Amino acid sequence: MKKIMVNESLCIGCGACVAIDPNHFDFNSQGLSTAKIEDVENIDQNLASAVESCPTNAIKIAETENDTIQEMPEAA
Ligand code: SF4
Repeated sequence: MKKIMVNESLCIGCGACVAIDPNHFDFNSQGLSTAKIEDVENIDQNLASAVESCPTNAIKIAETENDTIQEMPEAA
């Protein structure tokens, strides 16, 4: 499994991720991005594009194995 994590201290609320991948991202009450679905099996094209589009690198996809979260290397 993988876990979508949005760092709200980095998010500037530009909306790119929400526009590109509304299945996984939405705005919270502060106008910042939040993951609608945190746990995903695979990184689909929209999710990968949303991660790449973030101007502040606020979105991370972590690998969750054995209940531990390991940050994945930056997407190539
Ligand atoms: S693309 Fe990045 S900065 Fe923009 S709303 Fe999404 S998480 Fe926030």
